[in-house]
Amino acid sequence: MKAKQILALALISLILVITSGCVSSESFDSIILDSSEDSQQEPNADVIANGSLVEVSLPEPPLPTIDQSILTVHFIDVGQGDSILIQIKDKNMLIDAGEQKAGNTVVNYLKDNGVTELDVIVATHAHADHIGGMVTVLNNFKVKKFVDSGNPHTTKTYENMLIAIDEKDIPFSLAEAGQTIELDPSLAIEILNPEKPTGKLNDDSVVLKLTYGDLSFLFTGDTEIDAEKRILASGIDIESQILKVAHHGSKSSTSIEFLEKVNPAASIIMVGTDNRYGHPTEEVIARLRGLGSDIYRTDIEGHIVVKTDGKEYTVETQNKGLVFPMNAMNFSLMAEA
Ligand SMILES: [Zn+2]
Ligand SMILES: [Zn+2]
Repeated sequence: MKAKQILALALISLILVITSGCVSSESFDSIILDSSEDSQQEPNADVIANGSLVEVSLPEPPLPTIDQSILTVHFIDVGQGDSILIQIKDKNMLIDAGEQKAGNTVVNYLKDNGVTELDVIVATHAHADHIGGMVTVLNNFKVKKFVDSGNPHTTKTYENMLIAIDEKDIPFSLAEAGQTIELDPSLAIEILNPEKPTGKLNDDSVVLKLTYGDLSFLFTGDTEIDAEKRILASGIDIESQILKVAHHGSKSSTSIEFLEKVNPAASIIMVGTDNRYGHPTEEVIARLRGLGSDIYRTDIEGHIVVKTDGKEYTVETQNKGLVFPMNAMNFSLMAEA
């Protein structure tokens, strides 16, 4: 109906132009604007200039909207420990929350990045360097869904986390290989581990593969060689451009067999300065270098932020600014916009 009304008015105005030859562009514009729902619509300059019936007769169809949303993955520097924020559109997901003393760092980082609520939290496993800050996070944000490894740990830290989840009535589920996590329809988030709890906390870490367009991220928690072997044996495609290196670069993880299948272009090691574990190990650094992967470390670079449009990516670090991966020269301009 709307298009027909505009067509009728446009025909009348065109007749006026032809018969009188003296209708001003202002009155022509007002006819078009009166028939439009959008009073801010710009007058059609082509119509005024050449009076073409074809161009006046129908409003132009809207251009197809091309989804150019940027996926941003923040590897937050929490010292020794993991905390990763995933953002796309207005959706927010957190993987781990660092040690207890890092809780405020995580909360402030999230607030600085516009987070007011978390759609999903994943606790990869119950070690304190992954869930220590969780209660502080739970006390500061509304959380819509909580995913846990399902491997109980008899610590006060773990117990306090479960109590907080229960008190706040947050929907809670246990991760199992083969499940997916719904965050945004444009993303695929697959759970690759645990298949079933083995009782070994690190090996039962929740492992996630996130795919956005042509790009994949692999988040490995603290998984060690046994979990890597099981994931490899499952035959699932683990190739990922961006790898969160397992267990802070411990040599008991990131076997060459696993790494070759992931084949990461960029590897991120989340580790504290002068940590007492000797992380990351020279062995793991050498394996990553051997594959030609770029290496980023939170103990050296601070927060590490990867942005992607699903085709290319940029890496921005707190201490070194925007880094230009080889395949992202053009995208860097877009990511800055
Ligand atoms: Zn651990
Ligand atoms: Zn850890």
